[in-house]
Amino acid sequence: MFSLHEKEDTIVALATPQGVGAIAVIRLSGKDAIKICNRIFKGKDLEKQESHTIHFGTIRDGDRIIDEVLVSLFIAPKSFTKENAVEISTHGSSYIVNQVIKLLIRNGARPAKPGEFTQRAFLNGQFDLAQAEAVADLIHADSETSHQAALNQMRGGFSGEISKLRAELIHFASMIELELDFTEEDVEFASRDDLRILVEKLLRVVEQLISSFDLGNVIKNGVPTVIAGKPNAGKSTLLNALLNEEKAIVSDIAGTTRDFIEDEINIGGVIFRFIDTAGLRETTDVIESIGVSRTQEKMKTASLILYLFDLGDTDMVEINRDINKLENLGVPFLKVANKLDKANDQFVNELKINHPDTIFISAGQKENLEDLKSQILALVNLDKFKTGNTIVTNIRHYDSLVKTRESLLDVLNGLDAEVTNDFLAMDIRRSLHYLGEITGEITTDDLLANIFSKFCIGK
Ligand code: GDP
Repeated sequence: MFSLHEKEDTIVALATPQGVGAIAVIRLSGKDAIKICNRIFKGKDLEKQESHTIHFGTIRDGDRIIDEVLVSLFIAPKSFTKENAVEISTHGSSYIVNQVIKLLIRNGARPAKPGEFTQRAFLNGQFDLAQAEAVADLIHADSETSHQAALNQMRGGFSGEISKLRAELIHFASMIELELDFTEEDVEFASRDDLRILVEKLLRVVEQLISSFDLGNVIKNGVPTVIAGKPNAGKSTLLNALLNEEKAIVSDIAGTTRDFIEDEINIGGVIFRFIDTAGLRETTDVIESIGVSRTQEKMKTASLILYLFDLGDTDMVEINRDINKLENLGVPFLKVANKLDKANDQFVNELKINHPDTIFISAGQKENLEDLKSQILALVNLDKFKTGNTIVTNIRHYDSLVKTRESLLDVLNGLDAEVTNDFLAMDIRRSLHYLGEITGEITTDDLLANIFSKFCIGK
C-alpha cells in the first residue's frame, strides 16, 4: 500500500511499450498533473482548458524544443484514476520519451510504481479489487478467449453478483448481531429459514464459480497439451511446424512485434500450451514412449494428448496397445499418423479401417496440419469458452471462494445444530470476510454501516 503522502504525488510513466513506434504516450496523474505539464508545454494555457480536450503544441526545455506533441486533458474525477490526468502523445523515440519524462520529473512529478495508476483507480473507487486485477489480465491477454474473460471481469463480472448476495448476507448478520443485544427478550429478527435459503443460494453461486476456475485457468494459461509418441515419431518436428506456422502468421501482420512464447500455440483463438516441450527438443536421449511412467504422469495432467506415431515404424499391434493405454488414462486424445509422405498405402488403408478417426499428416512436409488443428479445436469443448457465464481466472479469487464455501457450510451446519447466535454470527462474519476479500470490501465497516443505516440505535 502507498502512504498518504505518496497518494498526493503526481505520477508519470510511459503508457505505451518501450522502443521505437509511430507515437508514444506518456501519462501523468495526480493533483498537479495539468499544472506540471503546463510548465513545459508551449501552446494554449492548459490550466484554462476543459476536460476531455486535445491540444497541439511543443514540449520545451527552456528554449530547446524537444518535440511537437498532442496533449489530452482529463480533469478529476473524469479520468481513469479519478484524478487530474494528462496524456502526452509524442513521437515514438525513446530519446524523446526519456527527455520528456525527465523534464516532468524536474517539474514536480515522480516516476509511477508498477500498477500505481490502477491502484489509484481502485483506491479512488473507480472499481473494486477484482476489476482492478482484471485490468492487468486484460493487458496480458493474448488470445480472444482470455481477452473476453478479462474484459467481462473488468466490466463487473462476478463482482456484481457477489456484492448483491453479500449485501443480503450482511443484512442477516446485522439482524443476528442485533438479536445478541436483546438476549433476555428472546426475539428473532432474522428468520432462520430465510437465512438457510440465502446461504444455499450463495453456496450454489460460489460452487459454480469455483468449478469455473479450471476453465478459467485454461483460458488464461492455455489448454495443457502433450504430444506423446516413440522417439523419432516426429514430435519435435510437429511442434516446430505448428509454431513456425504461427510465427509466420504473426510476422505477416505488419507492425506486430509480439514476444513469442516457445511452447504456446494459438489455434482459433484458444491457447494450447505444450507440456514438457524442452524435453521434446532434446529427443535423442529422452525416452518418450507411452509406457514410461513419468510420461504417464505428465499425460494425466494434460487436457489433450496428441498420440503421434510414425507410419513407417509402427505396426497395428503397437498402435492398438498404445490406444488402449490412452483410453484407460481418460484424457481426450487424437490419433495422429505421421510421415504420410513416405507411408505404405496398404498400411494407411488398414489404419483407415481399424481407426477411421486417425488424422494423417506429414509434419516434415507440413501437410494436413490445418485438418489436425481443426480436430484439436473440436476436441476442446468450445461451447464452454463461449458462454456468457462468469469465469474465475484469478487464483486469489479462487482461494477466497474455497474459504467462503467452507464458512458457508459452517453456517449451514450451525443452523442444523441450532447453535447459539454468537456462533452463527461468527460463521456468517467469516463468510462475509472471504466474500469481501474478492472485491476488496471491508467487512467490519460494512457491517456497522448496515446496522446504523437500518436502525436508529438510540431508540
Ligand atoms: P521425435 O523424436 O519424436 O521428436 O522426432 P523428430 O521430430 O526428431 O523426428 C525424427 C525424424 O523424423 C527426423 O529426422 C525428422 O526429420 C523426421 N520426420 C519428422 N516428420 C517427418 C515427416 O512427416 N516425414 C518424413 N519423411 N520425415 C519426418
